[in-house]
Amino acid sequence: MRQLIAGNWKMNGTRADLKELAALRVALAGNPPGADVLICPPATLIAPAFAAIAGEFALGGQDCHAQASGAFTGDISAEMLKDAGASAVILGHSERRRYYAETDAAVAAKARAAWRAGLTAIVCIGETEGERVAGKALSICEGQLVGSVPEDAVLARLAIAYEPVWAIGTGRTPTEADIAEVHGHIRRCLLSRFGAGGAALRILYGGSVNPGNAAAILRVGDVGGALVGGASLKAADFLQIIAAAPAA
Ligand code: PEP
Repeated sequence: MRQLIAGNWKMNGTRADLKELAALRVALAGNPPGADVLICPPATLIAPAFAAIAGEFALGGQDCHAQASGAFTGDISAEMLKDAGASAVILGHSERRRYYAETDAAVAAKARAAWRAGLTAIVCIGETEGERVAGKALSICEGQLVGSVPEDAVLARLAIAYEPVWAIGTGRTPTEADIAEVHGHIRRCLLSRFGAGGAALRILYGGSVNPGNAAAILRVGDVGGALVGGASLKAADFLQIIAAAPAA
């Protein structure tokens, strides 16, 4: 399966940073990647980024509202992301779950909104450090997966991102054996829920992926790509991670 290397810029970036996307475009045009590439900048940058990257890679949002439009001050719908040039949206990121109390049910509603608008939903799940220490990593991930991914999921436009909360932005990563264990468990859950369709879903790993550890992480069984925060902000770093993806 062709891997997906996705960048999450979080609340970072102004128009001055479009130069990083332009650098990415030029590098990828000259050396086509062996993986699919996606950058999720702040929503304000999606439209200008779309104009700047000439289709060389894909763009996504970092969240969306479940409704298509309405009186929801400050929110952005999946349809608006699509209109701006996005083809995907990150949903249920642990920062959204933590700071905005997003529940699994809310994430599932947003996933339906993404599919309604024709976007790919990248649904994030992952345990806290306390939950891992308590031996609950697998059950927490399974519970979030069941609650956040609707039964009638559009499998062709779904990816899962396993992001242990304690590894995000900390420079700490699980061992390769731990990543393999969780990804294997997620795969078994997807197979039991969606049958053969669950075999083709990409399960991304996210949490302190960088140019130094990407090659090892991306070769772990059932890892179908990476969701990258800090190391996606600079084209030079992100290009090294893209280059580390094994060919399909
Ligand atoms: C993320 O925010 O999804 C993430 C993985 O961040 P970082 O790579 O910076 O840990």
